[in-house]
Amino acid sequence: MSLLYISDAPRAAAWARFFAEAAPDIAFRVWPETGDLADIEYVVAWQAPSGLLASLPNLKVLFSSGAGVDHVDFSAVPSGVQVVRMVEPGIINGMVEYATLSVLALHRDLLDYLAFQASGAWRTIEVLPASARTVGVMGLGVLGQAVLERLGAFGFRLRGWNRSARRIEGVETFAGDETLHRFLAGCDILICLLPLTSQTRGILGRGLFHALPRGASVINVGRGGHLDQAALIEALDAGQLGRAILDVTDPEPLPADSPLWRHPRVTLTPHIASMTQPETAAPRLLENLRRHQRGEPLRDVVDRQRGY
Ligand code: NAP
Repeated sequence: MSLLYISDAPRAAAWARFFAEAAPDIAFRVWPETGDLADIEYVVAWQAPSGLLASLPNLKVLFSSGAGVDHVDFSAVPSGVQVVRMVEPGIINGMVEYATLSVLALHRDLLDYLAFQASGAWRTIEVLPASARTVGVMGLGVLGQAVLERLGAFGFRLRGWNRSARRIEGVETFAGDETLHRFLAGCDILICLLPLTSQTRGILGRGLFHALPRGASVINVGRGGHLDQAALIEALDAGQLGRAILDVTDPEPLPADSPLWRHPRVTLTPHIASMTQPETAAPRLLENLRRHQRGEPLRDVVDRQRGY
């Protein structure tokens, strides 16, 4: 029985070291050194090379090396193969850090002060307490809930919107499409932490921006496909939106001629909000793999129909 790992060499080395020590019974193979294809029962990959999965007669589980699975071509994954996404402390902590950094930068006007400094201006902006601002999170899954929990410690008013109903202490929650505009109407800072699906593609668009209070800011850490870029620029230029912090774009990398690069009220980072950390991800994956070997249900299985 073997596991095929597909990624860059430094990451592969870290994972291989962990498996050699913690699971010597599992043959850890690194792409493209597959060995006998019939031995491979597990694949860990962000994106498997085209045609590979169908050529593995005994493949049981495809582990995505990231939390989102919108990049997975489910039609290329044989029907009996389970797809598992990556949920691990390193990804969660990274997202909590990035969301906190972004919310505090907006709340304390840090991006305005950077611009003031650049122009040599000694200017002050009224400081509001955190309790005077509402932060809203779209998508109350693993990451959305972790972000809200940490933001609560600063005293922000918190809101959350989700497909199915959620009860989270200290958070005013809203469920379903019909509540979206009511949710948005109270959000000074909006964070998108939805998965990218046919329902959520383009959700950060004109209608949504106009449903937010005038001057609200948006942080997109979901996927670039959630955002209508033209609508964002229009809303920023019209003053309907204050600022946007974007960790994800469509496409990635963002083309050099995109107006987002130079927009004075857009802050961009190159999809680095959170990343799978081998030290915490490899043990988590092994634990899940052992569950599978014992015949127990896997954790973090993706629902192919829903796409997340
Ligand atoms: P998750 O645990 O699967 O949670 C997703 C949540 O979104 C669920 O609570 C789900 O509600 C809700 N949802 C799905 N479709 C919806 C819809 N149409 N309307 C309202 N709510 C909807 O996912 P996660 O681990 O929190 O990750 C969320 C996303 O973050 C990932 O899919 C990925 O795109 C993004 N991400 C980005 C980075 C980065 O570095 N920028 C890193 C990691 C992840 P139900 O449970 O009711 O269906």
